[in-house]
Amino acid sequence: MLLAVLIFSHNAFAYNLFGGRWPNQPHRGCCAQLSLYYSSGLKSYDKTGWQNGQNAWNASSANIVYLTTTDTSNPIYLQDGYYNNVSWDGVTYLYPCNSCTYSTANVVMNWYFTGRYSSVGSYSTGEIQSVAAHELGHLLGLAHNNLSSCVLMNGFTDQRWVQCQIKTPQSDDANGVNALY
Ligand SMILES: [Zn+2]
Repeated sequence: MLLAVLIFSHNAFAYNLFGGRWPNQPHRGCCAQLSLYYSSGLKSYDKTGWQNGQNAWNASSANIVYLTTTDTSNPIYLQDGYYNNVSWDGVTYLYPCNSCTYSTANVVMNWYFTGRYSSVGSYSTGEIQSVAAHELGHLLGLAHNNLSSCVLMNGFTDQRWVQCQIKTPQSDDANGVNALY
């Protein structure tokens, strides 16, 4: 009975997976490799954020190496856009679905927030990295873990960054990736 409670409480605070993954990648060990195409229209601060987020994953214990490519037919696109009527500062669209074997993805930063146009005030370089690294976690197949504030896959920038200053994958985030790749 005690064991069951411990297992439950552990799981309750651990990473969550969408249920999908990228095909043709190893199921364990270093490393899965995914190439990112940086859209030519990226704001400079968002481009820096994506680069910092990419570097953070590559420096982590997760079994992933993010590469960059200039091939416009690359299936993974990093973009930004200005959306002043939404609550998200970043979003990841996985196709054909979150729980599928992925074929393409669009990963978007909202420069209404990152570019400091919103009422919540300035996004620092670190905060933009936090958004970028978080979205690059979704890109791998990680869902939110909102039961832990201080992990990269917490879905709220107010918790993950403002409260905890998390801008790199934590062990829970890496554990989730390493369950997939
Ligand atoms: Zn998210």
